[in-house]
Amino acid sequence: MNRLLRLLQDGRFHSGQELGEALGVTRSAVWKHLQRIQGETALSLYRVPGRGYRLAEPLSLLEYEYLNPQLMQLNWALNLYDTIDSTNAEALRLLPRAGERPFIVLAEAQTAGRGRRGRLWVSPFGQNLYCSFAFKVHGGAKQLAGMSLVAGLAVMQTLRRLGVAEVGLKWPNDVYVDGRKIAGILLELTGDPADVCHVIIGVGINVNMVRAEGIDQLWTSIKEQIGMVDRNELVLTLAATLGVYLDRHSAAGFSALRDEWEASHIWQGRNCTLSSGSYEFSGVVLGVDQQGGIRMRLDGCERSFSGGELSLRLDP
Ligand code: ATP
Repeated sequence: MNRLLRLLQDGRFHSGQELGEALGVTRSAVWKHLQRIQGETALSLYRVPGRGYRLAEPLSLLEYEYLNPQLMQLNWALNLYDTIDSTNAEALRLLPRAGERPFIVLAEAQTAGRGRRGRLWVSPFGQNLYCSFAFKVHGGAKQLAGMSLVAGLAVMQTLRRLGVAEVGLKWPNDVYVDGRKIAGILLELTGDPADVCHVIIGVGINVNMVRAEGIDQLWTSIKEQIGMVDRNELVLTLAATLGVYLDRHSAAGFSALRDEWEASHIWQGRNCTLSSGSYEFSGVVLGVDQQGGIRMRLDGCERSFSGGELSLRLDP
């Protein structure tokens, strides 16, 4: 599928004849092929008599041959898919045969991208980054404390390096620009968290998406902020930056990164409500503790909270 899409990814018109010659097929085979691609990816395609075909929006497709050698140098093995249910789910499935080597799962689209607490991450074909980093952690709970917040720092720095200004973090692991979500992180564990386990850091970054259905909160994308970017360069910058942050975290723990995290927290010092299914607390956000839990002042007392069910919202 991707050979034909690659020819069209510049977003310009290409005639059926030109595409057919490039692929060694007839013009009607090109048309059939394009209908299949449209069915599988939901990409919008224009077909104009006399001019040919063009995509409604240009794409920046992921290139295995370009990415693989450079990710190898960063010690990440690459698994790249057109469409997968969820890159985190695929990473979990690959773990038993992955051996010791850290690996990445990347996909052009997810059909069941995961958010926290069973929510869906909207993942249209070819527009964003859907990426999971899987690796082994020795040393138990101490090595895991604050890891998902550290992943947030790495995503934020990656976006800053690309030129997206005003990026900030929202506890526990969302990345925002100007009050709108640009990226989310979902950390999953298997094995014994007190001893040896595998960590999967799933990262979704809105890259070239300009329209989306099914997102029930404000969102933005890199394209909306600074224009279209090459998703291959984004993968490489993210993999390198995450590697540096994970090394710092493994060597010195979350306490060494805590100040940096707090300095980037968009709701630091603000009145917020923390909720789980069963309770709600309102107070002032003071920061995070040594384990990455949220510190709040409630009725004059400081308290820390942590756990995957918690959700923080800014008070109106
Ligand atoms: P929390 O503070 O509890 O993490 P959240 O609403 O940010 O709240 P997540 O599980 O992090 O929850 O993300 C899932 C939510 O993110 C979805 O319910 C949807 O509102 C939103 N969402 C889904 N896909 C995208 C996307 N591509 N870009 C931005 N936001 C999205």
